[in-house]
Amino acid sequence: MTEAWQLIERAKSVTLLTHVNPDADTLGSALGMYHILKNMGKKVHIFNATRLPYNLDFLPGITKVRNAFQEAECYISFDAGSFDRLGIKNECSPLINIDHHATNTRYGTYNIVDPTAAATAQVVYDFCKANGAKIPKESALCLYAALVDDCGFFKYESVDASVFEFAKELCEAGAQPEYVAQMLTMREPLAKLRLIQKVLATLELKINAKVAIVYLTQQMLAETGGTKEMADDALNMARSLATVEVAVLLRQEEDGRIKVSLRSKSRVDVGAIALSFGGGGHKRAAGYTSDLHDFDRVLQQLLNALQGELVEL
Ligand code: 5GP
Ligand code: MN
Repeated sequence: MTEAWQLIERAKSVTLLTHVNPDADTLGSALGMYHILKNMGKKVHIFNATRLPYNLDFLPGITKVRNAFQEAECYISFDAGSFDRLGIKNECSPLINIDHHATNTRYGTYNIVDPTAAATAQVVYDFCKANGAKIPKESALCLYAALVDDCGFFKYESVDASVFEFAKELCEAGAQPEYVAQMLTMREPLAKLRLIQKVLATLELKINAKVAIVYLTQQMLAETGGTKEMADDALNMARSLATVEVAVLLRQEEDGRIKVSLRSKSRVDVGAIALSFGGGGHKRAAGYTSDLHDFDRVLQQLLNALQGELVEL
């Protein structure tokens, strides 16, 4: 048994921490762990500092996720590459940091970080299984949703035989692939398509059409009633263009700062670029927030950084 697992075994109460602007991997991983810990008789809290996405309401236990921070004997964070991604001001100790970002800053008392994993869910599963935990069917469903969402339904380069082995074990434990796919992708609100129309209408191509840029403003959100995560698909569409290697979404935040989301196709390490601007992520999906309030200046800085990377391609 690992020291981190002993810590969990000894703790009567555990608080699970998920990252801001949560996705299926952070919430599915935390909820996967939630059901395992409840089975072990623990008192478990789940914290998220921001709003939950509409399409994850089907995850068993999602109503337990709270905006209010709860102290506990042990803390576990999921899918957060750095401590600030948790949106917490409190001291969290001891903390087990479970993640798969190569840019993870190792901020935990224990750091269970596997950059080869397709999703944090895979790291959670391996950790729990290696320590002899039983995986209830609610956990299998949550972990499966986390996995498929984070690997683009088995499309990304992180997918190898071990990922299918993991998916197989989750199915055997009760996860239903078609149900999860329906819940995640077939319940879109009209506002999302209206918003995507507006975002795609801003498409610009730069650096010999190797870079595609799309914009999301607060006005577009107000006009459509959409929410910011609804623009992710527009970013993926921008990347899907034949000539494009890097797609960029520049999003105006409520406070006027600009959030940059980067996606690459097969060559450019956008995680390294995001890191150089104070953010982080993976090779093919990364992001950062700029303190500048001006789209043009943020874009110019970014294009300067990308220019060198793209010259060879
Ligand atoms: P997105 O562009 O969808 O917000 O994020 C893509 C990936 O980059 C995710 O894996 C996310 O965790 C990571 N990421 C996005 N923004 C930041 C950031 O500001 N800091 C760090 N460390 N990672 C980020
Ligand atoms: Mn992830």
